[in-house]
Amino acid sequence: MGSIVKRLVIVSNRLPVGIEIEDNKIDVKPNVGGLATGMRSVSQKYDSLWIGWSGMHAEDLSLEMRKKTDEALRKEKCLPVYIGKEEIDKYYYGFSNRTIWPLFHYFTQYTEYYQEFWETYVDINKRFAGILKEHLRKDDVLWIHDYHLLLLPRMIKEEFPAIPVGFFLHIPFPSYEVFRILPWRKEIIEGMLGADLLGFHTFDYERHFLSSVRRLLGYDIEFNRINLRTRMSIVDAFPMGIDYGKFHQSALEHRQKSGKDRLDIQKDIENFLSMSPGRKLILSIDRLDYSKGIPNRLHAFEHFLNKYPQYLEKVTLVMLAVPSRDQVEQYQLIKKEVDELVGRINGAYATINWTPVWYFYRSLPFEELIDLYSSSEIALITPVRDGMNLVAKEFIATKTEGRGVLILSEMAGAAKEMGEAILINPNNMDEIADAIHHALEMPAEEQKQRLEVLKERLQRYDIDKWAGDFMDSLLEVADQQQKYLAKRLTSKWEKRMFERYAKANRRIFFLDYDGTLVGFRKDPKHSRPDDELMDILTRLADDKNNRLVLISGRDRDSFTRWFGDKPFDLIAEHGVWLRMQGKDWELFEQMGTHWKEIIRPALQFYVDRTPGTFIEDKNYSMVWHYRKADPELGAMRALELKYELTSLLANLDLEILEGNKVIEVKKMGINKGKAAARILQQDRYDFIFGAGDDWTDEYLFEDMPAEAFTIKVGMINTRASYIVNSHEAVRELLRKFVS
Ligand code: UDP
Repeated sequence: MGSIVKRLVIVSNRLPVGIEIEDNKIDVKPNVGGLATGMRSVSQKYDSLWIGWSGMHAEDLSLEMRKKTDEALRKEKCLPVYIGKEEIDKYYYGFSNRTIWPLFHYFTQYTEYYQEFWETYVDINKRFAGILKEHLRKDDVLWIHDYHLLLLPRMIKEEFPAIPVGFFLHIPFPSYEVFRILPWRKEIIEGMLGADLLGFHTFDYERHFLSSVRRLLGYDIEFNRINLRTRMSIVDAFPMGIDYGKFHQSALEHRQKSGKDRLDIQKDIENFLSMSPGRKLILSIDRLDYSKGIPNRLHAFEHFLNKYPQYLEKVTLVMLAVPSRDQVEQYQLIKKEVDELVGRINGAYATINWTPVWYFYRSLPFEELIDLYSSSEIALITPVRDGMNLVAKEFIATKTEGRGVLILSEMAGAAKEMGEAILINPNNMDEIADAIHHALEMPAEEQKQRLEVLKERLQRYDIDKWAGDFMDSLLEVADQQQKYLAKRLTSKWEKRMFERYAKANRRIFFLDYDGTLVGFRKDPKHSRPDDELMDILTRLADDKNNRLVLISGRDRDSFTRWFGDKPFDLIAEHGVWLRMQGKDWELFEQMGTHWKEIIRPALQFYVDRTPGTFIEDKNYSMVWHYRKADPELGAMRALELKYELTSLLANLDLEILEGNKVIEVKKMGINKGKAAARILQQDRYDFIFGAGDDWTDEYLFEDMPAEAFTIKVGMINTRASYIVNSHEAVRELLRKFVS
């Protein structure tokens, strides 16, 4: 598979490198973040281009400096997107970090909804799209990252339907109940659905996303596949890993370091540990963000000191808080709160040679980070919400000596894979205090056992594997997508069809009704044919060389009412009834209906338990309709009902048809294909056309002769020769026949 990727184009808000300019000289330095390292391996595997913001305000660079910057970045295979200061305020600090970030982390009280933030967010996504449009090549594969660019996948897909587009969200996707609060929820979700593959850290985020798609847009979802009209999107969980080898190796080297090579931070740590036997460090590292639960952690640590006073002077909490988004008010507030809390706890408990909390408000270079990780036996990671949390994984990777305990919030994505950690609820102070105690007292053997399992998993599913898995899945989806694309009805095929139509003098059209000629309505009674449709159909049938057969699952009554006086042949109930033009309805086959009374109670039971659903009683079939039900409940009940019917139907010679938001039970062996075949036997036709939209129409497609033109509305796997997007496209086609 990999060999077909000519070039991988990665897009993220920030480039993986930073720029420093001094005296007109440009210095490009790699960023160390998880994404930059994570993507490095894939970007090396393929030819690549990375597009993102350089971190500089556009107005701070003269045209000449821009040229130089572009040049310097090109050498790193990077292409900058220029964004001005005010735009950054609204797009990045604004919509991304004051709307999406708090909302997706369930901080609804911090979420701000400003139209101008949104508008700038749209503009900047468009700017990214514009640059991509300039640089994308036909064989590229595109991978877009994170919440700053939620609209970009669709913008690109519309322009480049054949380019595989992957999207990965690095933060949580919230439950529908939270997501629905967002005024621009539909635009966001439609934007994301431009991707062929959507990746999330955990199954829960995936599930939440699917639920929002179902509820907001009503698309059909089969397992993790969303059937959009013209394409599909696959949704999957890919828990992001770390560069395990690098952390592990660095920790091993850390142990070998001789005294003179040790960094100051390490000397301080050793000094502290040596002051009294049995002293231990508890480590916490995060960006200073309200989602990280830092105040909770401090309260819990204080509670621990009170509850287990034997540990006074024995343990210190080393807290590294990395400055982050300090232009945003909530971040300034959290900083103040943390400063005060640390001050108060230290003020209340510190002794001459012991400080309970060592607090660093800064970022540390990698080497010092390793010192901290390696010297701490316990990590206390308590986010109230966190997409993944890589620190938890990095800590484990540095535990080379079989000692170390991780206390981890169950609200972090990482908790899903790290069941051997001590998992806590970050709002339960008593539980956290006990967890610290538990960690401090944990026997060496147990620590070792837990660590081994954790390490083994991290080593196996490391960052390379994560990125590789995502890429493999993306290429696979793209491959399937390609197969469908090949069936799209292009103007070339249309032309061929019209030529055949023009030459033919005995033509027949089999047209399904719902979903093929009209769109779906909440209540099927309301999908009566409009004047435009009547006009097209009548004109088509008025041509003496044409025979028009409407072939549907509908009952006879509606069809008689709507088309009774029209020059069409009608087939109802999937082929049970036939009404030749101007004649009466006749049964294709004699059948009993005694079975209905066996089935009815089962259907009724589902109606009672599923608001919005109802039974339609046709002459020779029964249908349970669930289009009006809550989409998730409806889908779930449909599965249950199918299961239940399967056992009921065992000896009844009946079958279950699953249509568009309906489940139908009918006599075995009757279907649209058989009905059409009988009609075809009555005469010779030199132009045969069939159109349908759901899988009951697949019988029709299957039983058509090879030379027939068969058209399917929608993009699920089909036996039809061509696919089109919508019932409007079918009408358009029919209109062309008569014009
Ligand atoms: N980190 C760093 N320098 C520091 C502190 C942390 O580079 O001084 C790194 C840390 O190694 C980790 C990342 O920052 O890879 C934090 O990732 P995480 O998923 O824990 O949190 P995020 O900041 O993405 O919310």
